[in-house]
Amino acid sequence: MTTLTFDSLNPATGEVVGTHPRQGPDAVHAAVGRAAEAAAWWAGLGHAARRQRLLDYKAVLTRHLRELSGLVHEETGKPVGDATLEIVLAITHLDWAARNARKVLGRRRVSTGMIGLNLAATLEYLPLGVVGVIGPWNYPVFTPMGSIAYALAAGNAVVFKPSELTPGIGVRLAELFAESVPEHPVFQAVTGLGETGAALAADPRVGKVAFTGSTATAKRVMAACAENLTPIVAECGGKDAFIVDADADLARAADACLWGAMSNAGQTCVGVERVYVVDAVYEGFMRELSDRATKVRAAEDYGPITMPGQVDIIRRHIDDATKSGKIVTGGPDSVRAPYVEPVIVEDVPEDSPAVREETFGPTITVRRTRDAQEALELANASAYGLGGTVFSGNARRAMELARRMRTGMTAINSVISFAGVPALPFGGVGDSGFGRIHGADGLREFARPKAISRQRFAMPGMNLTSFTRGPSELERLIRLVTFLHGRRKR
Ligand code: NDP
Repeated sequence: MTTLTFDSLNPATGEVVGTHPRQGPDAVHAAVGRAAEAAAWWAGLGHAARRQRLLDYKAVLTRHLRELSGLVHEETGKPVGDATLEIVLAITHLDWAARNARKVLGRRRVSTGMIGLNLAATLEYLPLGVVGVIGPWNYPVFTPMGSIAYALAAGNAVVFKPSELTPGIGVRLAELFAESVPEHPVFQAVTGLGETGAALAADPRVGKVAFTGSTATAKRVMAACAENLTPIVAECGGKDAFIVDADADLARAADACLWGAMSNAGQTCVGVERVYVVDAVYEGFMRELSDRATKVRAAEDYGPITMPGQVDIIRRHIDDATKSGKIVTGGPDSVRAPYVEPVIVEDVPEDSPAVREETFGPTITVRRTRDAQEALELANASAYGLGGTVFSGNARRAMELARRMRTGMTAINSVISFAGVPALPFGGVGDSGFGRIHGADGLREFARPKAISRQRFAMPGMNLTSFTRGPSELERLIRLVTFLHGRRKR
């Protein structure tokens, strides 16, 4: 029998980086079956042993840092330095998940309250079994590891379907895990195209699916999961806003804005796409921004567009924006596939595709606003709600704007800084998806709460859950509840 294969290509050169099997439903189901057995063993190891294995895996990844960065560079086209940075971030998340799983998920006693005085109650978070991770190509280590590390630390086995554009790095992450956990296939990668991911989502033995990609595909994955009532975590990208307030440090704001928008060729789910600048500092900020933008170059400071089909979307957004808006940097000629030079356009109507749809390219739209309040309203007028940024010299106002931004995460006076803090949950609202990876919420996302109550002694004269209950017991209960809850408290 011949196995169908597909190639992963270097998007900068078109060279074949690797050839991988197109694993169909049978192969995926076999992998899930192996994972289900491995999951029972892994769960049985307990927190302490899993922590030690995961810290060992972290050390293995660290020792292979250069090799892995090289592979990410080849499969995505991003500079080796950027690949290194994303792997370092993934390593810090793996470390945090391993060290904190017991504290967050382990068994603990909880208070039972006055009416449950005769009870002892415990809460713990148990593994789901097999977690299916469907990953993207833009950060092929950092993003899926946000699910993989936390799912493994919570005691699950993982079957990982990397994007068809970055299968090699996905396979390598799983191979290296076997150096630390050789006994059972606790972490496997399955390769293929969309139908491989679809088979994973449709397998009834998968306890949860962690998906990263487009909103449209998330809906398809969710529909497949609905058949088996399989829950999902959906991270579907965004249209992040960057607000520059009146007393912001304009040089720092411009520097951060440019990097947040153009690094990784703008292919970042929490990348800067819309910039709102208050009137008082508009000219000053634009001077700082445009001066810096002329020095940033595709193929030098960042790589090519990884997914060839994305170039047409970027071109459409730029063509439309430059027809109605005013060009600051670049323009329609900036698109020279597979590279796109930085494009900045001002005064683009808020209902145009460049403002409404995820561009996923090195482009931004900039708009002048009356004040920070108007900037926030425009920032929030998006179907997406993943991340965002506020630059302000006023710490109180910055915090207030950040809290009122309708997103899962906001960075103040820095860009994307929340992604590097393992204790902070990561995820969005609206079309950006739901559920959280990273932090304590990310660990709990891949576990089920288990609640246990144990009667320590029979409460004299208060056996309420029995057919022997009499009127006097009910009377005692009413008196107790009136004492506890019947008074107006301040
Ligand atoms: P998709 O949403 O199509 O793909 C994401 C992942 O889902 C890939 O691993 C893909 O596999 C897999 N997949 C595709 N179809 C199915 C299916 N029916 N069932 C299960 N899994 C499936 O994103 P694209 O890579 O095509 O990128 C399109 C757009 O998504 C981008 O333009 C960007 O706007 C957004 N995006 C957002 C990301 C984020 O970080 N949130 C990351 C990547 C993209 P395969 O690659 O093999 O098709």
